[in-house]
Amino acid sequence: MSDTPSGFTPKKKPRRFIAGAVCPKCSEMDRTVMYKNDDDEEVRECISCGFSQTTSEQAVEDNAQELVTRVTPDGKPLLDEGEQPLKIMGLDLGKKN
Ligand SMILES: [Zn+2]
Repeated sequence: MSDTPSGFTPKKKPRRFIAGAVCPKCSEMDRTVMYKNDDDEEVRECISCGFSQTTSEQAVEDNAQELVTRVTPDGKPLLDEGEQPLKIMGLDLGKKN
């Protein structure tokens, strides 16, 4: 039996779009899907540029970025009114080296 590639991937794991998520690589919004890989780890992938990252990799990067905090001058988060942040960050804004 040979699978003739019809140009579309067959049945894959369910992916769901993350509304409002911005790709860290290409900065496209609403192009990020999330799914689980074989290790049952959540992966987010940008369908625009192909960037993909597991949540654990992301956590590492988030930690790294916190040191180079990108906050707006007023210290306000860059969110539209009514938008919910995807995750709660900055609970621990104390100085840590
Ligand atoms: Zn991208």
